[in-house]
Amino acid sequence: MARKVLVLPGPLEGCEARLTRKGNSGIIRVRAGEDQMGRRRFSIAHELGHWEMHDSSQWYACTAANLRDYRVSPEEREANIFASELLMPRFLAEPLLQKPEPTLALAKQAAAEFNVSLTAAAIRMLHLSRHEAILVCSKNKEVLWWVIAKDRFGVWFKSKQHLHPESIACCLENGEIITGVQDVNTEIWFPNTSASFGISEESIRFPNLGMTLTLLTVSD
Ligand SMILES: [Zn+2]
Repeated sequence: MARKVLVLPGPLEGCEARLTRKGNSGIIRVRAGEDQMGRRRFSIAHELGHWEMHDSSQWYACTAANLRDYRVSPEEREANIFASELLMPRFLAEPLLQKPEPTLALAKQAAAEFNVSLTAAAIRMLHLSRHEAILVCSKNKEVLWWVIAKDRFGVWFKSKQHLHPESIACCLENGEIITGVQDVNTEIWFPNTSASFGISEESIRFPNLGMTLTLLTVSD
């Protein structure tokens, strides 16, 4: 309200959040989830980023993919960086996330501390960490999406790449929630790479969503 924007939670089809600008006031509509306060806070902060920085358009409808886009659309990237800085300010997040090896437990700690989703905290961790890591989301044993911050080795996943049966993510059973960090063969996740690097894998499963989040940490 202080920035002349009204936030209204409610049902939304086809997007996570929407900003409508009319003159010098605006309305942010955000999808009302049952228990996803952290996710909703990031969506609102993202739309506030569009509100503060992008007045060339009167209307933004942002999908879940937009809310983790740091590479494709400059405007979505800016809105995400704005939201990350607003909810996880650098002077607080850096001491927590910069030095230690990135792990899902650390991302969980940051998610609780800053009241954001595990995904938003993990992506913040990737960007602040001195280590190189990749966050991969999979469902039905296929890669749904992935986020990388630094990319020294030019790694990539095929669209809907099948999880390798020897990956930890593939072996997680229903009910199994989190694994520890384990070294795995690089080819399991990157069968087409010619670069030489090692990876360790850690996965967490969300039985209610049927999704698995995997953190791959890259080592020389
Ligand atoms: Zn957006």
